[in-house]
Amino acid sequence: MVETVIHGGTVVGPADSFEGDVAIDGEKIVAVGDSESMPDADRTIDATDALVMPGVVDPHVHIDDMFSFDSYESATKAAALGGTTTYIDFGWQAWTGEMSPWDEDGTLLEGIERKQAKAEDAVVDYGLHAAITREDPAVLDEIEAVVDAGVPSIKLFTAYEIGLQNGFMDRVFGVLADLDAFAVLHTEEATICDDRTAQFQADGKGDSEWYPQSRPDYAEAIAADAAVHMAMEAGCRYYGIHTSCRKSADVLARYRDQYGEELVRAETCTHYTTLEESIYGELRNLPMIAPPIRTADDIEAMFDHLGDETLDVVSTDHCGYTKESKQVANWWDSKFGANALQTNLPVFHDEAVNNRGFSYPFLVRVLSRNPARIFGLSEKGTLDPGTDADVVVFDPNETYTITAEENASEADFSIYEGREVTGRVKQTFVRGELVADDGEIVAENGHGQFCRRESTDWSF
Ligand SMILES: [Zn+2]
Repeated sequence: MVETVIHGGTVVGPADSFEGDVAIDGEKIVAVGDSESMPDADRTIDATDALVMPGVVDPHVHIDDMFSFDSYESATKAAALGGTTTYIDFGWQAWTGEMSPWDEDGTLLEGIERKQAKAEDAVVDYGLHAAITREDPAVLDEIEAVVDAGVPSIKLFTAYEIGLQNGFMDRVFGVLADLDAFAVLHTEEATICDDRTAQFQADGKGDSEWYPQSRPDYAEAIAADAAVHMAMEAGCRYYGIHTSCRKSADVLARYRDQYGEELVRAETCTHYTTLEESIYGELRNLPMIAPPIRTADDIEAMFDHLGDETLDVVSTDHCGYTKESKQVANWWDSKFGANALQTNLPVFHDEAVNNRGFSYPFLVRVLSRNPARIFGLSEKGTLDPGTDADVVVFDPNETYTITAEENASEADFSIYEGREVTGRVKQTFVRGELVADDGEIVAENGHGQFCRRESTDWSF
């Protein structure tokens, strides 16, 4: 006798899908197969006409810091309602400056502990990246302890006041390579973006329609090229985050051809696969995100590279900002970032599967399997027996219209407002516990746990 059998759905794995059942006992999946082979269960969940998939693993999420008003409670509830069962947030090395909430410097380990203390009320599981924000050589000695704390991925920026110069990044790549840890890069060539922004400010071009031109695609590509080149010289594994454009994706694909998937991996985000820059005329500052939302051709490039597997992952870059924090006269005064945890799976499924004919296994690869494997979450992103029972039951046929009125996030708008999508999350399980059921949170706060991640190799 087991606790739960999810019965009669289409079970989707990274390679194929089949009609069958998934059995759960305690926190683990204990069997996957045809109905006749299932053990008896206390509870049977009817998944007829629904997909049964591993929960979404979102490796790029901002919670409860200067980049998000969301608490772990509000964000993890949004995640659960959206079918995301694990996300990776950021532990920040404290710095001082205009963007900083701190008045003194701190360490990476403090940043990690600070986030863990904030996560008490989580309902889904989470991990952390460590983000280096200052060129303080002391941080290089700290990285080994960070990796040992279950945080083998270090985020580096090339832009903003937390951007690092190439010289310092070059040193970080060397340290990471020695520890077999890896780098997660936000790449935009800072001087191009800063100079253009200053010109727009001088010319009074504060309307959001100008914004995409302030951070051009080639600035993203130039910085990606330099960063991945340095990482490869050091033999350091490189993960490019929020790839937004053809020029940048082509750069990453070129290095990947040369060095292999063992060393180069990358993501795009749902908004770069579904929205065009005209949205800045429609929604003004609400979709203000860096890099900017770009052109129809860039959307095609994202799907080309996802299709040929030179992009691995689709993430959200979720930032829980409110409408009020966005409704300022000039785009440069707006908060940068938008919420998407609750809408990610339905929106990406609708675009990739319904509009473009990608398969359900493709969805599982880019939303679950690949991020789990790349980020060392061996219990996640799979329905294999023995792993964590993180499961989403998804009705691919229900049509609904996205509205921020349903948001669990502190963010009271959606960049997908009014978008009609076909496909809706029915149930979400995290380690065997039903956390979201038909649009309601049914788990107690605190079910979510910190995931210590291992540094695992990327040859898969
Ligand atoms: Zn981000």
